[in-house]
Amino acid sequence: MCGIVGYIGFREASDVIIKGLKRLEYRGYDSAGIAVLNGDVKVRKGKGKVVNLEKMVAESGAAGTVGIGHTRWATHGEPNDVNAHPHTDGTKNFALVHNGIIENYDALKKELLAKGHVFEGQTDTEVLAHLIEEIQKVAKTDFETAVQMALKQVDGTYGIAIVNKNEPDQIIVARKGSPLLLGIGDDEVFIASDASPIIEYTNKVIYLDDDEMATITREGYQVKTISNIELSKEVHELEMSIEQIEKGGFPHFMLKEIHEQSQTIADCMRGRLMVDQNRIVLGGIEGVLDRLTNAKRLVIAACGTSWHAGLVGEYLLEYIAKLPVEVEYASEFRYREPLIGPDDVMLVISQSGETADTLAAVREARQRGALVLGICNVVGSTIARETDAGVYTHAGPEIGVASTKAFTAQVTVLSMISILLGQRRKVLSEADAAILIKAMSEIPGKVAQITEKQDEIDHISRLFAYAPNFLYLGRSYNFPVALEGALKLKEISYIHAEGYPAAEMKHGPIALIDEHMPVVVLAVTDHTNEKMISNIEEVRARKGRIIAITTESNHDVRNLAEFAITIPDTHDVLTPLLTVIPLQILSYQIAVYRKANVDQPRNLAKSVTVE
Ligand code: GLU
Repeated sequence: MCGIVGYIGFREASDVIIKGLKRLEYRGYDSAGIAVLNGDVKVRKGKGKVVNLEKMVAESGAAGTVGIGHTRWATHGEPNDVNAHPHTDGTKNFALVHNGIIENYDALKKELLAKGHVFEGQTDTEVLAHLIEEIQKVAKTDFETAVQMALKQVDGTYGIAIVNKNEPDQIIVARKGSPLLLGIGDDEVFIASDASPIIEYTNKVIYLDDDEMATITREGYQVKTISNIELSKEVHELEMSIEQIEKGGFPHFMLKEIHEQSQTIADCMRGRLMVDQNRIVLGGIEGVLDRLTNAKRLVIAACGTSWHAGLVGEYLLEYIAKLPVEVEYASEFRYREPLIGPDDVMLVISQSGETADTLAAVREARQRGALVLGICNVVGSTIARETDAGVYTHAGPEIGVASTKAFTAQVTVLSMISILLGQRRKVLSEADAAILIKAMSEIPGKVAQITEKQDEIDHISRLFAYAPNFLYLGRSYNFPVALEGALKLKEISYIHAEGYPAAEMKHGPIALIDEHMPVVVLAVTDHTNEKMISNIEEVRARKGRIIAITTESNHDVRNLAEFAITIPDTHDVLTPLLTVIPLQILSYQIAVYRKANVDQPRNLAKSVTVE
């Protein structure tokens, strides 16, 4: 689920790998390790950060030009030194790193134990190493065949990389459900689970697909299926730049990404939002527009922040395009015997395009004949490749684990799809489309005005940095923003926070309100304004501390709230793109006051590639 880096070439492998693992740190992890070939397999690994590994390697040495490295996000076995990857087989001839889960590891382990194998730790990964060893011993095959035979016995997901001291000039990699890329250089090849460790060396990449493996040497690579059918793979060009994955003077990636949003929203709309022509052009879904326009309903599936974007999308699509929408947790979708078929359209949303639960929903829906569209940020990601069509968010690499710019880009895409479908379904007049399109074009400038208010928000953040609980309330389009605000705070500051549709407060959460409870209220000037004002009064009557996010023109709310953060006025339906920004800043600042690790919050991984 976390990171893999590998290198074969002429450089010191440990330098490339450790630098690469640092680039992958944003994904969240608990331990790190490396294995380098140099006559023997040298393994250095341990619980904790990559800097500890770096020290270990500096002290004990790991010279060699072929190696693999890993950052682990424990699924099986506690995060400790022994369970850190790489894992060796019993003979210590080879070492393996693995992202994903070997689901049948327990049964395999029992068989291997009966055959005399001894395990050092508790991971599912170590079982795979021993399985390969056992197969090679019994079947007396070459190493590559043994790996293929082992992988055929494995249920679950994997991205793996293996170095073997008996094959000192090669690395074997394989993938099923967990991303792996090869970066092709001159007389060197890089391996990584996402592009960020590769980009500083080469922009030529090959994406492995499920059930594929590659044997990599300095001179090149041979990709084949696990069943040994040779493949010729397309070499893609990465569009990412090294600056995009560095902090650019900001103390944290998250703050950089919050500030980037005026730019990333503009990038997302570039060439798509045609103000002069009063239309939206989305090339990625052009070929399926008729089917989408005529759809009876749309099912949106996503997880986490992307699910919140999906909920905003539900309001937008129903209001603007009059298209019935259901929003599903991708993780629950397939456990419900979903009623989806050839007449349906599913839209999935995933920043990384690798989210395992979302990918599972894609496969389920496609198998049942539905048209499946994707909104992804990472170009060339698995979901982007497996969906029938889609729209990229073009927000650039998002490194902070807590999603910010990906969310606003997703909502931007959903707004554009809504307007496009509204026009095509003839439920949105040209005049109303013009108002919306113009309002959208003004969003980037308005976002910039809010990010400039950082200092204004700071005193609120300082005051409430040690509050044990937070409540977030919103109605209509801003109800999902309340959920997103609460999630942001939980993720990076570890404060317990809950988001509710404001009317629900009376049905339970109001019991929590006292003079210690900060209540963040999203109260913009829209059709819910009067009701939101009543909610504010109800909180005030119980001495709750109101932090209102409101529009500049909304004097009523500004007067009532103990604290008010204003956003520029915009079209009602577009307010989520603005109201979420102060909530991101508030969470960020509170996390910094609490000295939390903002970019790599505990227990979290950037892209959740296990189910
Ligand atoms: N399931 C493996 C473990 O727990 C791999 C986890 C990962 O993807 O980092 O060690």
